Amino acid sequence: MMNTVTYEEIVEGKVTDLYFERTREILKKKGIKKRVRAEVMAKSLPDDWDWAVFAGLDEAFSLFKEVKGRGMDLNIRAIPEGSIFRPWNAVLEIEGDYADFCVYETAILGFLCQASGIATMAARCRLAAAEKMLLSFGGRRMHPAISPMIDRSAWIGGFDGVSIVTSAQRLGVKPSGTMPHGLVLVMGDTVEATKAFAEYFGSQAKVISLIDTIGDEKFEAVRVADALGKELFGVRLDTPASRRGDFERIIREVKWELSLRGHDNVGIYVSGGLGEYEIAKLIPFVDGFGMGTYLSSGRAIDFSMDIVEIEGKPMAKRGKYAGAKDLFHCPECYLTKSVPMGKRPFGYCECGGKWAKMTEEAIPGKFDVTVESARKRVMRAITTLRALT
Ligand SMILES: [Zn+2]
Repeated sequence: MMNTVTYEEIVEGKVTDLYFERTREILKKKGIKKRVRAEVMAKSLPDDWDWAVFAGLDEAFSLFKEVKGRGMDLNIRAIPEGSIFRPWNAVLEIEGDYADFCVYETAILGFLCQASGIATMAARCRLAAAEKMLLSFGGRRMHPAISPMIDRSAWIGGFDGVSIVTSAQRLGVKPSGTMPHGLVLVMGDTVEATKAFAEYFGSQAKVISLIDTIGDEKFEAVRVADALGKELFGVRLDTPASRRGDFERIIREVKWELSLRGHDNVGIYVSGGLGEYEIAKLIPFVDGFGMGTYLSSGRAIDFSMDIVEIEGKPMAKRGKYAGAKDLFHCPECYLTKSVPMGKRPFGYCECGGKWAKMTEEAIPGKFDVTVESARKRVMRAITTLRALT
């Protein structure tokens, strides 16, 4: 048995904090039926983030669809996935009988907090990597049951490929990968392993040789490039931390030696414990990055859900703004502005841009929850944010 719950357990509201279950019981026993609006927002963002990418709504929607199908009367408003949001921005609003939906807060936050954290980390890496290739190797660092969520979030954040086969299938893309150290070790030689890869997979995949298993990166790179010639697309350095010293210097040396022998066309790919700040340092010398732990452990966004309206009247706890809200953003600079529902922000953004409404009625069939639209939204934002930095 695995330490994961089933879809049915989530839909039945079993994955909930005890206090919600008790609240539901009290309200039902007392016969209190009150329609409320509850909103999801984060008061702050992790680390030094001043914006984040909204993701995980697809799973929350599956849950809403299911419980509505079972008779629950809920109205949902949200900003689309892939939207750039900032602290104090309501990203999702649920309107319904509180006794009905309170037990789902735990699951809904879980869907959004983690996926948004990973999508934001992916987008930050994309911003740092400019046009260089980014591959998600993050699946193996988390529970296998959530690898499709990790890779979907990475894809939304602008990654070019994912290594987990099932994740790629769900995204409708080809999985990406090179070769593991295991293949080189078992075959006993980097050149032999690369030749075998080219023999069986050269027609369907780029041949990228892993050159840090047995010998020195420089000499292995030259050996495979000489042996494979034009068949070799690139080399990957996953150099162990204990041997790394100055990773940038190793990479530059490999590039130099390849170039000296006429192998300028061989791409340089790196992986192993890299983060966005290493990417920024290495992009002049590297063609692509494989990202693992840094991506999949992207800090969870601290979303919370709070009641902002009861029976049509604004009401919120201390420290929260009452009333339903609409979120607007400026597509020229991605600043956001929150206003009472039905109102528009006054004037223009400080950059001169025109405010555009983000919050939408999430009506099935009308509200766009496709992963490709979410990804396009992020890519557009990154282009703008890059130009601004
Ligand atoms: Zn603006």
